[in-house]
Amino acid sequence: MTDPSTHVNVLINSNVNENNGNDVCDGEERLIKPRNNFASYSSDDVSIRFRNVRSNSQGNICNIVENLSHRRSARLNAEDVPPGATNFLSANYESLDYDTCENYILLDEERRKGYKFVVKKNLARWFIFLLIGICTAVIACFVDISIEELSSVKYSRLKIFMDECVLKNCLWLPFFMWLALNLVPVLIGAVLVAYIEPVAAGSGIPQVKCYLNGIKVPRVVRIKTLAVKIIGVICTVVGGLAGGKEGPMIHSGAVVAAGISQGKSTTFRKDLRIFKYFREDHEKRDFVSGGAASGVSAAFGAPIGGVLFSIEEGTSFFNQSLTWRTFFASMITTFTLNIILSAYHGHPGDLSYPGLLNLGKFETMTYRVYEIPLFMIVGIIGGLLGSMWNYLNYKISCFRLRYIRAKWLKVIEALVVAAMSAIMGFLMIYFLDDCKPLGQSPTKFPVQMYCKEGEYSAVAALWFQTPESSVRSLFHDPKGSHNDVTLAVFVILYFFLAAATFGLSMSSGLFIPSLLIGAAWGRLVGAVFTKLWPACEFLDPGKYALLGAAAQLGGVVRMTISLTAILIEATQGISFGLPLIIVLIMAKWVGDFFNEGIYDIHIQMAGVPLLPWEPPPLSNNIYASEIMSHPIVTLKTVENVGHIVELLTCVTFNGFPVVDPPSSDEAEINCYGRFRGLILRSQLIVLLQNKIFNEYNEFWETIDIELFRNEYPRYPTIKQVKITEEEKTYMMDLRPFMNPSTYTVQHSASLPRVFRLFRAIGLRHLPVINDTNEVVGMITRKDIAKYRIWKHQGRMGLDELLITDK
Ligand code: ATP
Repeated sequence: MTDPSTHVNVLINSNVNENNGNDVCDGEERLIKPRNNFASYSSDDVSIRFRNVRSNSQGNICNIVENLSHRRSARLNAEDVPPGATNFLSANYESLDYDTCENYILLDEERRKGYKFVVKKNLARWFIFLLIGICTAVIACFVDISIEELSSVKYSRLKIFMDECVLKNCLWLPFFMWLALNLVPVLIGAVLVAYIEPVAAGSGIPQVKCYLNGIKVPRVVRIKTLAVKIIGVICTVVGGLAGGKEGPMIHSGAVVAAGISQGKSTTFRKDLRIFKYFREDHEKRDFVSGGAASGVSAAFGAPIGGVLFSIEEGTSFFNQSLTWRTFFASMITTFTLNIILSAYHGHPGDLSYPGLLNLGKFETMTYRVYEIPLFMIVGIIGGLLGSMWNYLNYKISCFRLRYIRAKWLKVIEALVVAAMSAIMGFLMIYFLDDCKPLGQSPTKFPVQMYCKEGEYSAVAALWFQTPESSVRSLFHDPKGSHNDVTLAVFVILYFFLAAATFGLSMSSGLFIPSLLIGAAWGRLVGAVFTKLWPACEFLDPGKYALLGAAAQLGGVVRMTISLTAILIEATQGISFGLPLIIVLIMAKWVGDFFNEGIYDIHIQMAGVPLLPWEPPPLSNNIYASEIMSHPIVTLKTVENVGHIVELLTCVTFNGFPVVDPPSSDEAEINCYGRFRGLILRSQLIVLLQNKIFNEYNEFWETIDIELFRNEYPRYPTIKQVKITEEEKTYMMDLRPFMNPSTYTVQHSASLPRVFRLFRAIGLRHLPVINDTNEVVGMITRKDIAKYRIWKHQGRMGLDELLITDK
């Protein structure tokens, strides 16, 4: 009758009744429970009609899958997604295989190597975290020292020309010089990002967040990306753009971790043949979380903030030992960085440079209980301004997606923004008259401009230094160092400039620009409070500058726990923790009322299937049988080689349940194969490539897990595998390689339950089984990520996003 070697299990809702010309077996017939019916649910109620479609010859398999593909999740063409849409998921993002494939060959390796191997692996893990800490610190120092040196040259020259030209009436000269000194580095940075590695654009935090969430973001942890990121961020800061080096440090830490832990570089085609046992997604992702934490630690001198960042921003699968190792890497980073930077600044051994961002010390700052409402007001302003900034940046990003698509246009755009930065700064310095006595000079290069002898222009001081130094000035300058008008104009200009800069084809972070905007308006708010209550000595504008900075940053990124720890550690003021927490919580609540944090907005615009912390509310009336994909394509435990090749050529699925197919007698009453395990596409390809066929049984002795590790992470495609016609008739035993203990779920499980499994364990595939352990469907990350809650004008609902090939 039929050839059971080629079979596809099909699950069809009862209202679908079509025959594809294949043998059909109507095994069971029940009704799918309608949605929104909260009556008690038992698996007997689930009503599904099962069929089993079998092809008459192997050649039919692609047709069968294609004919039935309309029953999967609805898909859209990329052209149908308008630029800036946030309600779609891109099919281009794949999941990591975080759940270890505990197959026979892995267990065999562990058994053979014994406890010695366990200890060796553990020591290697600590050693790698040590290396990650040191290397991240060295990179951070390189970036910092380069920026410091190049900025010094830039601003010292500009200062000399400014001061001379005010007297000689040739101000156009320093203006054009400023333009050129902005444009040249930005041109280099933009060309590198646009033409060599576009994934190095921005801060990299959204990408790292996605990676830690369990998504493969193409090229995100490559060495080329790191190189472009490092040079790019130096160009951004030296080019005077409203961007910082802190976010890119987090990305750099992640790349360093991914590179070191694998002991090989695919870019340089160099395999050191060490740490081979870490060549799998699970181990690699754990190292990346340590690298991201080291990056935060390097950026802010905040090892605890780093660990909290990894936990809060991305990592769903943390455990105690990973937290401990991550903390170790962060500590090593801050220590190494401190030693190098202290030596660079001329006092080795002093250890007073724990991070790149040096905000100065605040430890003497006090506050009164009746200031708490004022802190709340600052938090509310931060939430409002942060959400406004996010909205503005979102609109600019939509414009970019629509009109600025060619690479050369991206470079031009970066140059325009760089020129705007110089023009705005110059106009502000030229038109605003804000002179302060030199004694209070907060800047390395005080420009006199039109001020009297012994005075300097406070406006020029804001522009003639790195944004980080400006933040420090706003925090620590004594009362009255800045005019209110200067601050107000600066806030407005920098607000727009920073919104236009984030998302450019440049490597740049938003921590520093946000802190700078917030510090400026915070100081302004502090000045207003001082005017309202002149007798209150403790209303220090510097204190409100710090709170404003925290509020603005919190309103933009919406992190609370990690940001509090980062700011406390960066300012070394533990006593000021409570005001910071109040401000950050208020900023988050207010901001969340209007829109998402900036990273989430960008992640949604890219259609990344990120899983949030919690399943969508009110979704427990959606069952696994409704979410799952069907028909399900399965393989038999011992499978025909030709069939596997054909299957991998015509479907793109990354995982296949392995089943014991029903015997021809059973098939009359039961259409499904009993579930035995799950095998990945990558595993099948490696097996085919190495010709692990039953007929070549002389190889069996030598097969071990190294076979798969050698190809990780860039597995060949099925087109690269050469199989002869004769070999296509051979058989392959999948049992030693499949994961026999993969997680499965009953068809009657609810969406929240499925969601929690995915989120907590980091699953990639979840086969759905029926009451008799037969596999009836498949759920992957996108199948559940597409259920998203929407909020609009006080109303809420559950959206089912479409998946595109964008
Ligand atoms: P990832 O790429 O992260 O593995 P994905 O959702 O892209 O996730 P694919 O393997 O490409 O996974 O599958 C795409 C769609 O096909 C999903 O909706 C999934 O449920 C479904 N699917 C996956 N594997 C199978 C299979 N063996 N048989 C039938 N449908 C499958």
